[in-house]
Amino acid sequence: MVEIKNGFIGTVGNTPLIRLNSFSDETGCEILGKAEFLNPGGSVKDRAALYIIEDAERKGLLKPGGTVVEGTAGNTGIGLAHICNAKGYKCLIIIPETQSPEKIELLRTLGAEVRTVPAVPYKDPNNYVKLSGRVASEMENTIWANQFDNLANRNAHYETTGPEIWQQTEGKVDVWVAATGTGGTYAGTAMFLKEKNPELKCIVADPMGSGLYSYVKTGESQPEGRSITEGIGNSRITANMQGVPIDDAIQIDDKECVRVVYQLLEKDGLFMGGSVGINVGAAYALAKQLGSGHTIVTVLCDGGSRYQSKLFNRDWLVEQGLLSP
Ligand code: PMP
Repeated sequence: MVEIKNGFIGTVGNTPLIRLNSFSDETGCEILGKAEFLNPGGSVKDRAALYIIEDAERKGLLKPGGTVVEGTAGNTGIGLAHICNAKGYKCLIIIPETQSPEKIELLRTLGAEVRTVPAVPYKDPNNYVKLSGRVASEMENTIWANQFDNLANRNAHYETTGPEIWQQTEGKVDVWVAATGTGGTYAGTAMFLKEKNPELKCIVADPMGSGLYSYVKTGESQPEGRSITEGIGNSRITANMQGVPIDDAIQIDDKECVRVVYQLLEKDGLFMGGSVGINVGAAYALAKQLGSGHTIVTVLCDGGSRYQSKLFNRDWLVEQGLLSP
């Protein structure tokens, strides 16, 4: 039966789980992608945005006419901006100027106030995340969404994404693998799935330039290299990632990410963002390591139209050394 959803908020979550046919057929595994790009705001971050806002409402921190402030690489801001419109709040977004112009323009179109700031490391007091916390603390009737360390983020995935995957696969999952930005998606889903089946492997996928791969392998976060991907990679262990099951980590470079994104487009008909290249690249590498017959679930975080000027611009790819002229 096709049900009627209650507005934007009622449409968040309950996304399809898609068999990625070309990758599955090639490996003999079931490689499945949770279709988070089908959320109404277009990304996995709608879930976290909704949980963060409703948690603040329940705690009495956010009152009618209030403002939600966040430092975000884009998708959380987009989710927050939609939900603020749907619930009558104002939205102020602080975003590093390195993020794709598509996301920055979309935030403005949605009605958020957007401040772009130079991209500086977390240890710098003017890092976008720290700056957003300071700005929020100086405003009345305002919450700082604080997605990196606010556990409402991973609770969204513990309460929704994890149970949906469990139900959709009828409990037949061998591996959960995902890259992390805040870690909310990876963590909440891993916590739920591991509780259901302690044998299931939870694996962090990491782009170059992120410290999590080395953290899992050696106990120390030592980022190396760089990546064109947006919204993933971290050099610190956020509150959302603390105490979370991690069986192993796998690193995927940009060359493989780009190859995977274009295979998804050309063979599977799926137009996906860069972090999906890391996720599906990791799922594919694990499928080859494990051999046929395994079910590997990952996330299709957002769609490719957010990266038209970069990942889907051939000249830009040549400039990045990711495509021969
Ligand atoms: N992919 C994209 C495109 C994102 O914007 C994000 C969120 N920053 C992620 C993946 C990672 O999600 P999470 O914050 O839940 O780790």
